[in-house]
Amino acid sequence: MAKRTNVLTVLIVLGLLLGIGVGEMLYRTARAPDESTATSVEPDGERTRVVDRAHSRRKLASDVVDGSKVAGDLVLIRPLKLMIVPIVFVSVIVGVTSVGNPSKLGVIGGATVLYYLVTMLLAVSLGATLVSTFQPGDIDPEKQAALRADASTKYQGSNVQQTIETAEAEKPASLGTAFINLVKQLIPSNIVKEMAEGRTLPIIVFALIFGLALAAGGEVTAPVIRVFEGIFDAIMRLVLIIIWITPVGVFLLMTYTVGSIGIETLIGPISKYIAVVLAGLAIHGCIVLPTILYLFSRKNPFRFMWQMRKALMTAFGTDSSSATLPVTLETAEHEGGCSKRAANFVLPLGSTVNMDGTALYEAVAVVFLFQLYGVDLGFSELLIVVITATLAAVGAAGVPSAGLIMMVIVINAVNTSLGRDALPMESIGVIIGVDRIVDMCRTTVNVWGDAVGAKIITRIAPDTEEDMEAALG
Ligand code: ASP
Repeated sequence: MAKRTNVLTVLIVLGLLLGIGVGEMLYRTARAPDESTATSVEPDGERTRVVDRAHSRRKLASDVVDGSKVAGDLVLIRPLKLMIVPIVFVSVIVGVTSVGNPSKLGVIGGATVLYYLVTMLLAVSLGATLVSTFQPGDIDPEKQAALRADASTKYQGSNVQQTIETAEAEKPASLGTAFINLVKQLIPSNIVKEMAEGRTLPIIVFALIFGLALAAGGEVTAPVIRVFEGIFDAIMRLVLIIIWITPVGVFLLMTYTVGSIGIETLIGPISKYIAVVLAGLAIHGCIVLPTILYLFSRKNPFRFMWQMRKALMTAFGTDSSSATLPVTLETAEHEGGCSKRAANFVLPLGSTVNMDGTALYEAVAVVFLFQLYGVDLGFSELLIVVITATLAAVGAAGVPSAGLIMMVIVINAVNTSLGRDALPMESIGVIIGVDRIVDMCRTTVNVWGDAVGAKIITRIAPDTEEDMEAALG
């Protein structure tokens, strides 16, 4: 088992590295200037042929980049996504019925939600502190102006603009509407519709109450519980197969990411912003969360991080905590030593509401953009950022770029507090180009935060009855 896991780890790492290499090569080819060996003394026909060849090489490179996205989606993302609805529904039912007792479940649920909130608030405060200290938006005025001009071009016509405008046309993205949306998801009216649309939160709510009913049914419902346990086992077997596709999938997705962004972007004019986000994520992921894990479980946090490596690398490669959920569950239960009770409960919910990385990123990105547009936020505005960024992270779906879109809520809230549109929506264009790279890292921290939660909750919800009695009384 351990040997197989090591082989898989090596393959995933190879997939990631190879993807970076191939992607960078394609990026450079696609952007190569019209250099040619043709000199002015060569006949016009020859020069045209060389230019044509360079042109078709560039086109081929960018087609390969686009193609690798489609292929990565087909090979890895779609099979993982296929598992999400059944896994969320069944794992929560299995988790709830195995605890059985509603009051114990209440304690576990309360501890879980408290963990989510505290860690997200810590993350967002860390982000706000770092961005206010290092001021990545406070750059040379000429560079600022260039970035602002460029932002508009990048934003206009982008997918992000379309998504934001379609949503705003229905309802303005305010704090109130975001809150109502969340409450609506907590009180679903049509579970089939929610499942068809792949919304995890309403499915969890339904599975929770259904699981409680099953647990209360005694002998009559006991066979149904057994059926769900069997289904869960079968789904996990499917996940184990899909996990073996991960190396190819992350190779293709990395090729697309690096091929379309290029490593040079990391050292461009917004490199300081990227550095602040990445430093914040590193501090939260490697210091804050491990400390919390150590304090509450007395386990070696880095050993646990190593045990969770498959899930963390999948998150990095796919940009999606939801798509990673099947891998996270499998790894937490089979390698990370998390109890089924805790993992089945904490991870599905965590993949949709607990996003430490996204919360931190929201704070850094919004404050950075305000700095770039010449507005230094005061303490009360920073407080608004902290609160709304946490809510935005809770509301963000576990899919690529969800955090970028939810940023609208934070920007709107700060603008309202300032009493003017100090930051135009098109400012998001400044960071659209590098979002995928930042997204890979924040998604990894999101998944890591969920895993740490599952490990901590394992302490109060271990799998054996006697241990749980001892823990919860
Ligand atoms: N991609 C992130 C996730 O799936 C969400 C985000 O865009 O921040 O966890």
